[in-house]
Amino acid sequence: MKKIAVLGSTGSIGRQVLEVIEALGPGYRVTALAAGKSDQLLAEQVRRFKPEMAALLDAGAAARLRENIKTEKCVVEEGPAGQLAAAAWPAADLVVMAQVGFSGFEPLVAALKSDKTVALSNKESLVIGGEILKREGLLNLEKILPVDSEHSAIWQCLGSSSTAGLSRIYLTASGGPFYGKSGKELEAVTPAMALKHPNWQMGSKITIDSATMMNKGLEVIEAKWLFDLELEQIEVIIHRQSIVHSMVEYIDGSIIAQLGLPDMRLPIQYALTYPERKNSEFERYNPFGQVLEFKEPDRENFPCLELACSAARTGGTMPAVLNGSNETAVDAFLNGIISFTGIPDVIEKVMQQHRVTDRPEVEDVVNADSWSRLQASAVIEELTGRVN
Ligand code: NDP
Repeated sequence: MKKIAVLGSTGSIGRQVLEVIEALGPGYRVTALAAGKSDQLLAEQVRRFKPEMAALLDAGAAARLRENIKTEKCVVEEGPAGQLAAAAWPAADLVVMAQVGFSGFEPLVAALKSDKTVALSNKESLVIGGEILKREGLLNLEKILPVDSEHSAIWQCLGSSSTAGLSRIYLTASGGPFYGKSGKELEAVTPAMALKHPNWQMGSKITIDSATMMNKGLEVIEAKWLFDLELEQIEVIIHRQSIVHSMVEYIDGSIIAQLGLPDMRLPIQYALTYPERKNSEFERYNPFGQVLEFKEPDRENFPCLELACSAARTGGTMPAVLNGSNETAVDAFLNGIISFTGIPDVIEKVMQQHRVTDRPEVEDVVNADSWSRLQASAVIEELTGRVN
């Protein structure tokens, strides 16, 4: 019996995780659920999956949840401590991290320090803390199972050979809704336009990250830590169809790719059933008559990709600053305060102002995150005269 905690259970990935667990049937049990503030949906999930504990970050929402599920045998916890308790829940052996943004970082550290196996969707936590986790010996592909489709693809291509003989990887990118647009056209992009992803249905933050290509930048850093690669070994390649989810190239020139329709349930199921594979009812890719195309990314009009690579090269607290300023800038864009092209401008200014702490501890990256958010808000106010 696999006992599973799902953090971020009310989000796009979290809901799909529960759907996959339900379809897998006996042998998979939910022991803890956690989310931010969606008490109604979490109450429905508690009734359906009968976990021993549920946590909400928001105290008011947790109080409503407690009231709503008082006939269930489920402990309700709240605040940051509740999230950490869910991440380290004693009865769980697998913890799915599907929260959005920085909120995944400290629960990831807590889960790994409690010797849990983590199925990781929350890429931001590795961007922020990869260096710390590596130094502490907590980065290990037997303990962190990738859920992100590109990283799952690489993991599957590597099989049991780990990274021996690996030359480089190709991280595929759909390019988002604006691939091929000019800088001028990008200036006129609205939140409604950016929230329409051509191939994937996702939460709003990652959808905007996909449109700016920050998502691919974060994934480059995620891949660097997960697979212990140099940045030069990570090639970003545009593949509009989102069928090839990524590829690995070995020193003898052999390239191995993983293919499938764009459906997050597949990498989710692989992480949940690993090391086994189980049958699934997901629609299959039919290769007959199909032509697969690959192109260069447009680094000039989508500078977020290079900003992320630059943060990775600098290291220390810089990736946390990249992430924190990006989260603030994306928020401001969604609130109509800055333009689409203003997102990289804000991040770049904040990164330029940051004094990096090398060999950071957890506290240093938490402080860098808070600093970057304040600084990004100040830059936004300076640029627009408006407060986010
Ligand atoms: P969503 O926005 O759909 O869901 C986010 C989840 O996190 C919700 O359960 C939300 O709870 C919870 N949450 C939000 N803020 C906090 C907080 N401060 N503390 C604790 N929990 C919080 O995001 P997605 O599901 O799209 O993405 C989740 C992660 O997976 C991201 O890191 C993303 O990059 C990654 N990912 C997503 C993919 C996708 O297809 N969606 C694909 C690959 C990776 P509530 O709703 O209650 O506020």
